This record gives sequence, structure tokens and C-alpha cells, in this order.
Amino acid sequence: MTPQYLNLIDGNMVAADTWLDVLNPANEQVIGRVPDCGQRELDAAVAAARAAFPAWSKKPIEERRAVLMQISDAIKDNADELMRLLTSEQGKPHAQAQGEIAASAANVAALSSLTLDDEITEDSDVRLSRTRRVPVGVVGAIVPWNFPVALAVTKITPALLSGCTMVLKPSPYTPIATLRLVELIAGLIPSGVLNVITGGDALGPMLTAHPDIDKVSFTGSTATGKRVMESASKDLKRITLELGGNDASIVLPDADVAKVAEQLFWSSFLNAGQICIAAKRIYIHEDIYDEMSAAIAEYARMIKVGDGAEQGTLVGPIQNRPQYERVLALIQDAKDNGYKFLVGGEGDPSIPGYYIPITILDNPPENARIVVEEQFGPVMPLMKFSTVEEAIERANNTDYGLAGAVWTADAQEGVRIAEQLETGTVWVNEFLHLSPFAPFGGHKQSGFGAENGKEGLLEYTYPQVITVKRDPVPA
Ligand code: NAD
Repeated sequence: MTPQYLNLIDGNMVAADTWLDVLNPANEQVIGRVPDCGQRELDAAVAAARAAFPAWSKKPIEERRAVLMQISDAIKDNADELMRLLTSEQGKPHAQAQGEIAASAANVAALSSLTLDDEITEDSDVRLSRTRRVPVGVVGAIVPWNFPVALAVTKITPALLSGCTMVLKPSPYTPIATLRLVELIAGLIPSGVLNVITGGDALGPMLTAHPDIDKVSFTGSTATGKRVMESASKDLKRITLELGGNDASIVLPDADVAKVAEQLFWSSFLNAGQICIAAKRIYIHEDIYDEMSAAIAEYARMIKVGDGAEQGTLVGPIQNRPQYERVLALIQDAKDNGYKFLVGGEGDPSIPGYYIPITILDNPPENARIVVEEQFGPVMPLMKFSTVEEAIERANNTDYGLAGAVWTADAQEGVRIAEQLETGTVWVNEFLHLSPFAPFGGHKQSGFGAENGKEGLLEYTYPQVITVKRDPVPA
């Protein structure tokens, strides 16, 4: 029988009247069913979060932190089961799923260690003025399908630590590992503090429009992020938006080809390219372009694409059919325009599963769709540049501003270039590293606000300034 995974509303694991099927992208088989919630279940979840808010927000932060540390331990204790569920619904190879689960446990612990101390803003003979941080209330959290567990806990942890309560909506494509995790931790959390509901396309807009939600924390595409912002504007809900990217890497002529080629490959192809901060445009200096592109192509040909549950697979399938078809359309567009392929380009649609071969393009033009659009798949365009100024201009010539990277033997020059990139994160000689203690957020149309670090935590709070006059009231 197909396993069923329940939702968490007001401390109880519950079903809805109807179910949604969840597929394994490696073979398109149904692997589980989850509740298909609508307005009624959403209202119940929001009411539970509202009712739980006064008691939860008044608890000392140490008590809330202790609950979160238990959640971190529960993730660690059940890592193997969660990892297998994650691979089966998301497609990523076991080692990468293991990495996501381990990082989730570690991030819950790290983010829980943050503090929300009061700040004295004036301490004079005249007055004492203190800024404290109060939780915004009920948070609606919406998560995409590429890192379902890691992105869920990145929202749950700061929200609960700050004293907020939450209604979380996973992606309909990848709800299973999250629901299993929630079942494991439900008994650790007071009823109503965390509610998790699943549903189809209509549920997200219902959640962002709900009048009793005070803040929306959203991770997903820029197009949906704009809809979330519009919907939140009706009653001025607070928002945090973590959106799409079209990150550029700039490879200087002094970069060590032997060392860098493999890292450039993984900066684009980890999780089959379905990472907001994957390198989606690689600019390589013309002096080393031929050598570097040949080295990347040679490495790429050794990589096994397949079912993430099979040993030896390093790149899994695309997570869902619409995204699979989008990436195939981008590849077809490149073919139609006669762009040169270094590797890949030919899929086999007769094989079940959303597999796309590793595809690398050789210097397509700057206005190619595959360069301009966020591919979100195992496709990487390599482009040639002549001067650093030109590379910076091309890297910045996008509405996105999420992350970027510079590869060079001269770290100082790397930093000089990094400071000119219009993105929230820039790595020099590294890729995809995010710290729970540093703010992560997009510039331009890649986001609004930040997650992680103190800044991310503060987004779940309002400042409240309390001022006490010290000298006597004038007569
Ligand atoms: P998506 O925007 O289609 O969906 C994200 C979530 O929003 C899903 O849970 C979906 O059900 C829900 N949703 C859909 N329509 C909605 C609406 N009108 N109102 C409210 N919610 C709605 O994104 P996706 O395809 O699931 O994820 C891929 C995108 O996410 C990529 O663009 C990627 O770059 C981005 N992403 C960004 C980050 C980041 O931190 N910046 C991280 C991961 C993914």
C-alpha cells in the first residue's frame, strides 16, 4: 500500500478529505500520499498558531532554545531514514541527501545559539532608552522543492527561537521528508506552535492572503515572490523573500586549471543544478578558456547521471516534470540557434524519470536564453572574456543579485572584483558555502530581506523602544 504522511495541526497528526500523490523523479512512481489541504485546514492551522502564540512568546528564550536543540538531535537520530525519503522524493544522490540532513541538524543547533538581547540606545541623565525585540506573531512559511528539509528548518528555527508560531507549507513536489520529520518532533513542541500543512497550487496564495498571518517567509522563484509581496501588501504583512538567481563565476587567467576545473563543475552541477546559488554563467578569461573548458568537459564525462538511490550516481534527475520540460526547452533553444555543445545535449525521453544529461555549452552569446535565464538544471554555459571590467559588467547585467564567485591565485584581486559584484554573497576560490551566522539574501530581484545570522533572526521580530524620562517632569 502507498504510504500516507499526515499534517501537523494543533499538536495532532491529521489527514484532509483528499490526498495528493508524490512521485519519485527517478522513475515517476508514486511513493507516498499527503493531505491536500484547503481553506478549512489552513484556517485551523492558523487558529492553532494564533492560540499558541501568547504562551510561546512569553517563555524565556532559553526554553525555546532547548526545544530547538531537541529538534536538532531528533534530526541527527533519524538521519538515515530522512536521507532515504529525501532522495526518493527529491532525486538527489544519497551522499547529497545525507549532506542536506546533516546540515539541517547542524543549522538548527547553530541558529538556536543566536541571542536577542536588548540594546540600550540612550543612557543619559535625561533618559534611559532601550530597544527590545518582540516576535511578530504568526508566520506563514513557504518552501520550494530543491532543499525541502534544509530550507524548512532555516525558517522554523529563527521563527520559534524569536517567540513566533508558524504554519509551514512544503512544496507539493517534496513534502514527505518534512512531514516525517514533523511527526518525529511533534511531541517535543507545545501544540499549535508549529503547524505543517500540504496542498496543491491554490494553498500558497490562500496562506499569503490569510488575514491572521503576520509575516510570510518565502523561498522560491522570483515570479512567485512578486505575487507573495503583492498579496502581503493588502494588510502589510512582514515579508522575507529568498528568490531565484543567475549567479556568475569569473575565472581569472592565473587560476590553476587542474585545481579549479572540478570545483567549477560542482559549483554548477550539485543537486543537478537545482540550487538558487549554483553557478549559472561561467566567465573564463580567454587566455585559459580552451584549457579550462577542456578540463571541465573531461571531468564531466566521468560523472554518472542516474537514480540517486543507486551506488555511483553523482547527479540525479530533475525534481519534477514542469522543470524537466523547462530545461529541455532551454537546451532545444540552444540547438535551434546553433550554439556549440562541449558535452551533452541529447536526452532519452523513452527512459522513465526526469533525466537530463550533463550539458555544457561552448561560448554561447550573451543574449542566449540559456545565459539570460535561470536554468535550474544540469546545464552550464561557459563564456570567454578579455578584460576584468568587461567580465564584471557582464556578470552584473541581470535583474538577479543572489551570489557569485571569483577564481584567482591573487586573493586580493579576487576581493577587489567581489566588491564590484551586485550580489548578496560572493565567494573567492570557493563555492556554495553558507554560514548560519552570516546573513544570506539577494540583492535586486533575488530577494527581500535575509535569512541566517542575526539579521535573519531579527526579521521575525519588531523593534520596540521603551524610553524612561529620568529628570522630574517639568512643572
Ligand atoms: P516556486 O516559486 O514555483 O514555488 C515555491 C513555493 O511557493 C512552493 O511551495 C509553491 O507551492 C508555492 N507557491 C506557488 N505559487 C504560489 C503563490 N502564488 N503564492 C504563494 N505560494 C506559492 O519555486 P520552485 O520552482 O518550487 O523553486 C525553484 C525556485 O526557487 C528557483 O527560482 C530558485 O532559485 C528558488 N530558490 C531560491 C532560494 C534562495 O534562498 N534564494 C533557495 C532555493 C530555491
